[in-house]
Amino acid sequence: MNLSELAQYISDEEKAEQVLREIGVLKRYKTCPFCGESHIGRVRRFKFKCYRCNKEWGVRRGSILEGQKIPFTKFLMAIKLFELDTSVRESAKQLGLAYNTVYHLYQILRHAIIITEPDNGSFSGEIEMDESYFGGRRKGNRGRGAAGKVPVFGILERGGKVKVEVVGDVKGDTLLELAIKKVKRGSLIYTDRFRSYNGLVSYGFKHRRIDHGKKFANGKVYINGIEGFWSFAKERLMKYHGVDPMKFPLYLKELEFRYNHRDRDLFNDLLQVLVGYSLVACTE
Ligand SMILES: [Zn+2]
Repeated sequence: MNLSELAQYISDEEKAEQVLREIGVLKRYKTCPFCGESHIGRVRRFKFKCYRCNKEWGVRRGSILEGQKIPFTKFLMAIKLFELDTSVRESAKQLGLAYNTVYHLYQILRHAIIITEPDNGSFSGEIEMDESYFGGRRKGNRGRGAAGKVPVFGILERGGKVKVEVVGDVKGDTLLELAIKKVKRGSLIYTDRFRSYNGLVSYGFKHRRIDHGKKFANGKVYINGIEGFWSFAKERLMKYHGVDPMKFPLYLKELEFRYNHRDRDLFNDLLQVLVGYSLVACTE
């Protein structure tokens, strides 16, 4: 569904509310939250009522939308615009919402991705591993002196998913520990000639190295997959003109999510992520 199809589909608040309730972003009350009675009903536009204790509650109660004023239609449209990688400023303008309202929602989506996205299971088969540096202006030496840059370690299963993680350093022990956690023994791992990958074979992995300069001349021995991810990530992060280091993992995880869901209905997956987040964030 594209943007205008969605706008038609949720043409009014009732329809948008129905979508949110069916998906589970809004809570589906079967009993009264005060007394447990099941004889409850809808009264007025945005209230439920219990016919035993006579208490009423709002349709947003117990959801991530509780206490938020954003209309349901605009909430769904903002998620769609996030899916389309529209900036906060542009989305706010299109929807007639305050910048902070959209920013807050975008950040909820990113937190929800981190909290609910499962660890993708373990990787096997043909694997690519590589590290890369994000942020900072100066070019530093690999592994040392890369001032102001954040090292990120990436593992990619060919034809499958990617897993990226901010690391404190790119020493052999650090990278091998992550490799051992994520990749099945016996898998074939491709890396470049960086010394930190020296220990892979002793942990039961098959290991092939490529020379960066010669990677295309070497048959199957290339790491274009993970390098493709690095350029995808860097291109997107450029838009932000440098991300606050504290928030960087949040943006990185979003890119991992986008990459791993590249063949799926991202809008629907984002709504599912919000449902998972609601289960954690809303305790009632
Ligand atoms: Zn009641």
